[in-house]
Amino acid sequence: MNIVADLHTHTVASGHAADTIRTVCEKARQKGLDGVAITDHGPGVPGGANPIYFMALKRMLRGIETPVRKIAGIEEDISNVKGDLTLDDEVHRSLEIVTAGCHPYTWIAEQPMKVRTDAIINAVTRKNIQILTHPVASFCDFDLPAVIGACTDAGVALELNESKTEDVGTILKFLEMCAKSGARIVLSSDAHVAEEVGIFHRGASILKTARFPEELVINRSADAIESFFGIGLQVQ
Ligand SMILES: [Zn+2]
Ligand SMILES: [Zn+2]
Repeated sequence: MNIVADLHTHTVASGHAADTIRTVCEKARQKGLDGVAITDHGPGVPGGANPIYFMALKRMLRGIETPVRKIAGIEEDISNVKGDLTLDDEVHRSLEIVTAGCHPYTWIAEQPMKVRTDAIINAVTRKNIQILTHPVASFCDFDLPAVIGACTDAGVALELNESKTEDVGTILKFLEMCAKSGARIVLSSDAHVAEEVGIFHRGASILKTARFPEELVINRSADAIESFFGIGLQVQ
């Protein structure tokens, strides 16, 4: 399957990734991608970027001349059971895509499974996020079938994360649940070094094994990305 945009990458601003925004964009272009989203961790993750970084991100991306569509995003964290995120809406409105996942050393990692599940479902139902990152092989467990159902109902995408593909059996079960539910997914690298940008081999091979319906994979085409996320891939 051809993937046209990598919607999940990190830079040095995340506090534990190796490369700059410019290097990540150049690598995306070299890999033949039409688009790349810069989705650094926010302050929920120790060492993550601050609100001013995200408020300035669009401007920084506009200034980089590499001819690839550069999408301003964030990988957020849920900060309470109501499904609020760590940063204000004003910061999120300055971005084009808001994703969130469960990470170590964050509020959600300390919660019992029921609270985690409720928090994720509330964040999804309130449409605080557009993509739930690494729902499989996450850093903490939650009720995956319930979360897939909530994502399907709310029109929130679930991620198949290229960097977390060791447990093929669990991913196949996840994909089966998504296909049954009609949930939309994205295949993303979650690159923490530029060399990982645009690498999707393992995820693509698992999708093939699962005979996963292509039409449910959003970042297979620019049209699908535009209609689901409202993000055009024309270079700006
Ligand atoms: Zn993550
Ligand atoms: Zn990430």
